[in-house]
Amino acid sequence: MVETQLRRRGIRSERVLEVMGEVPRERFLPPESRSRAYADQALPLALGQTVSQPYMVAAMTEALELTLTDRVLEVGTGSGYQTCILSRLAAEVYSVERLEPLARSAELLLKELGCTNVHLRVGDGSLGWPEAAPFDAILVTAAAPDVPPSLKAQLSPHGGRLVIPVGDRFVQDLLKLTRHGDEFRQRRLMACRFVPLVGEEGWEGDGP
Ligand code: SAH
Repeated sequence: MVETQLRRRGIRSERVLEVMGEVPRERFLPPESRSRAYADQALPLALGQTVSQPYMVAAMTEALELTLTDRVLEVGTGSGYQTCILSRLAAEVYSVERLEPLARSAELLLKELGCTNVHLRVGDGSLGWPEAAPFDAILVTAAAPDVPPSLKAQLSPHGGRLVIPVGDRFVQDLLKLTRHGDEFRQRRLMACRFVPLVGEEGWEGDGP
């Protein structure tokens, strides 16, 4: 997976490649998907959600440019797979999930795998985690109609990075915003497809 799906497609950070090689992806999947854990695809989770394709996880992680002193917010814990990867590259990870059963199973797994720097919360992550802000990096792993103002406000003004899929419910652009003071620079990284961010600053309801 690391060589053919990640390095060959342009993931360059040795640290990201190393961590992607270490974290056991199969542990985060339901039993029926485990045999495909290292396949080049997103895989179904419980409650209609998905674990992103390994390449997408690596590309988003690399784009965050994490250092070991960073405090990171993740919106959409899901299985906890991406959370586990972030936790090995940053100082503290705050992750919000709206579906309680997913958050509970992620919590158990992350504990078992020794991710002691992870803080989980059940709620609407489109509003961020104001009490723990500012964040050096924010990753949203669900698709938003626009960049939520609350997340921009919780990004560190000293070079904070926000990576988020923005578009309609079916196809999105993965955007990277970098904040310096009150100025946000925005770059499009690639096309992508995520499940919807459902919440006050996301989409309404679960939709079609
Ligand atoms: N990073 C996850 C991907 C999970 S899919 C993984 O590696 O497994 C996206 C997740 O975002 C889903 O679990 C979904 O329930 C969650 N989600 C959607 N809207 C949300 C919101 N407003 N706040 C928090 N989580 C949300």
